[in-house]
Amino acid sequence: MPHNSPFQAAPHEQQAIETPERILVVEDDKAIRTLVTATLESHGMSFLAAATGREAIAAASASNPDVILLDLGLPDMDGVDIIRAVRQWTMTPIIVLSARSEDDDKVAALDAGADDYLTKPFSVDELLARLRAALRRIRYERGNMNRDQSIFENGPLRIDFAAGCVSVDGQEVRLAPMEYKLLCLLAHNAGKVLTHRTILQAVWGSTLPQNLPSLRVFMATLRKKLEAVSPQCSCIHTHVGVGYRMGRLETPPEV
Ligand code: CA
Repeated sequence: MPHNSPFQAAPHEQQAIETPERILVVEDDKAIRTLVTATLESHGMSFLAAATGREAIAAASASNPDVILLDLGLPDMDGVDIIRAVRQWTMTPIIVLSARSEDDDKVAALDAGADDYLTKPFSVDELLARLRAALRRIRYERGNMNRDQSIFENGPLRIDFAAGCVSVDGQEVRLAPMEYKLLCLLAHNAGKVLTHRTILQAVWGSTLPQNLPSLRVFMATLRKKLEAVSPQCSCIHTHVGVGYRMGRLETPPEV
């Protein structure tokens, strides 16, 4: 890491072989900010902290963090506007931190381009799990930058976009056109929470809430078909009242 980096170095950075992950923490509540940054530090990650929306946008553009943790309730700006601003130049994962009373804001934040959310109060374990998921996604994307993008693999699941074929553990799975569309959308956004609205717009071409029951039915049959071949293929997660996410399944390290 260059000496002029604005990120506070993790204590064992000197010995670390790999560059530590750099997290931008945007939170005006000092107690939460301290809890989060202390957690990052003790897990070998470096961080940069911001307490306002303006600071957040400046830090995100100047420092190119690996992940942004963004509190939605900031004194100077609406969190959704910050996400829209940041999304103009980067797809860096954004994990929103929101109070329970801000549930609608959370969905608006996801619709604006946030990847995931944590509801306050959250535990250190939850925070680390979400961060790991976001980091796994960016590592996967970076690792696949020069690879053939027509094939998607996630644990036992394989999608051949060019051929329109889906298989689990090498066994072909026959999907209805709507199920296939849903699966492709989730796969293209693996690791991200997609709201009902986003999914309806992408697959049905309209956000009419009347289509929500059929979305649920197609999602249920899609899951059933994938899990019928291998229970290991339970990668589609429901976020009650919010939407769905395809989780990245751990793949054994390549030998
Ligand atoms: Ca706040």
